[in-house]
Amino acid sequence: MDCPYCNYHDSRVIDSRDVNDGIRRRRQCLKCDSRFTTYERLQPVSLFVIKKDQRREEFNRDKLLSGIRKACEKRPLPSGAVDKVADDIEAGLFSSGRVEIPTTAIGDMVMARLQALDHIAYIRFASVYRDFTDITALKEEVDALVTGEPGISRSSSQLPLLSAEKLEELAENPPKRGGNQEQLNLN
Ligand SMILES: [Zn+2]
Repeated sequence: MDCPYCNYHDSRVIDSRDVNDGIRRRRQCLKCDSRFTTYERLQPVSLFVIKKDQRREEFNRDKLLSGIRKACEKRPLPSGAVDKVADDIEAGLFSSGRVEIPTTAIGDMVMARLQALDHIAYIRFASVYRDFTDITALKEEVDALVTGEPGISRSSSQLPLLSAEKLEELAENPPKRGGNQEQLNLN
C-alpha cells in the first residue's frame, strides 16, 4: 500500500486490530511519517464495471461466464476450462484492488485468454465484443490469428454458387461431407 501523501511504497504498522470482517491497520509512512489507515478484507465489498455508454453496473461473474460460454459453445475444450477463464479473470479483477473497471478492459482480458485457448471461441467472442461492422474487419482479425500459425488450413466459409440443375442432382445424390467445418479445429 503506497503512502497516500507521498506515494512512497513502504510503511510500518503501528496498530492492528480486527474489525467486523477484516483487519484495520494504522500505518506510518517510512518516508514522510504521515499516518494512514488500511483495511484488509477477504474481498472488496463490490466491484463495478463501467460500460461503453458510461453506465455503472456491479460486476457479475455469471454474466462474464455466460459470455465466455457462448463463445466456447460446442468447442472441444477440456472440462472446467471455461470456468477457469472466468475464475482467473475474476481473481485478477479483485486482486487489482480497483473498485471500478471498464468493460473494455474485461473484454481484453477475455480475448487474451481465449486466443490462447481456442481460436474459434476467440473469433466468436471478438465478433460480439469488437462489434465488427463489416466482414473485412472480421477477416483481418482471422488473418492476424492465422498468420504465424503454420499448419492451419484455411477453409472458405463461402459455398460455391450452384446452378439449379446441379442442386437437383445434389438432392438426389448427396455428396459425402468431408467435415469441412472442422478444418479450423486447432486442437
Ligand atoms: Zn509518505
